[in-house]
Amino acid sequence: MTASPLSTAVPNVDPAELEKFSAMAARWWDPESDFKPLHAINPIRLAWIRRHAGALSGEGIVDVGCGGGILAESMAREGARVTGIDLAEQSLTVARLHSLESGVAVDYQARSAEQFAADHPADYDIVTCMEMLEHVPDPESTICACATLVKPGGWVFFSTLNRNPKSFLLAIVGAEYMLKLLPRGTHAYENFIKPSELAAAARRHGLDVVALSGMGYHPVSRRYALTRDTSVNYLVATRRP
Ligand code: SAH
Repeated sequence: MTASPLSTAVPNVDPAELEKFSAMAARWWDPESDFKPLHAINPIRLAWIRRHAGALSGEGIVDVGCGGGILAESMAREGARVTGIDLAEQSLTVARLHSLESGVAVDYQARSAEQFAADHPADYDIVTCMEMLEHVPDPESTICACATLVKPGGWVFFSTLNRNPKSFLLAIVGAEYMLKLLPRGTHAYENFIKPSELAAAARRHGLDVVALSGMGYHPVSRRYALTRDTSVNYLVATRRP
């Protein structure tokens, strides 16, 4: 990761990644689709956000890399004023349709984190960036954008995949090839991020790292839960002083 300042000069996007998500977009809200794991972890991560940031009602939140809006809508349902940004247009179309159907208002915009941060510095009480950093060419640039978006005293929550032999085995070999929880090619091992790397990048951009938690999948019960084990999926809570 590079200690890049906020820059919108070179788009921090991998077009192949966006195509991958666009191709699956119609299935965002099918809980049995490739997005099943995101539906399964959503109540857990939502509770974790609430545990740190408190009640979400009235809070201004931006969800970076919102996809079809699984997390964004669930936070809006709790009374937060949520903006969701993503660069995959098809996903935003699905997110907007779902919001109309459910009657839970979310403002979805096709903007990159960097562009949005340049226009909205220190505008948000909470920034969420879940399962997204492992899909961008320069994750530190996204972290910098998230740090720019949050108000002093506000929270920034990240989640991503750790990088080690166990995460390779579980997140790629296990999830994509054996259990077929995710389509093959969903994740690239080299884009996985160690918690120490994420924490160091967050600190370089002025965020204090408050908490780190693992999220574990139990193949037998087929359930996720928070765990001390951060070796595969993990969440990081950070706060701007
Ligand atoms: N955060 C959502 C979706 C995670 S999937 C959730 O956890 O439920 C990863 C998302 O990141 C996809 O919607 C994809 O379109 C988006 N994404 C990938 N690269 C991006 C980029 N450069 N800018 C914005 N969004 C991006």
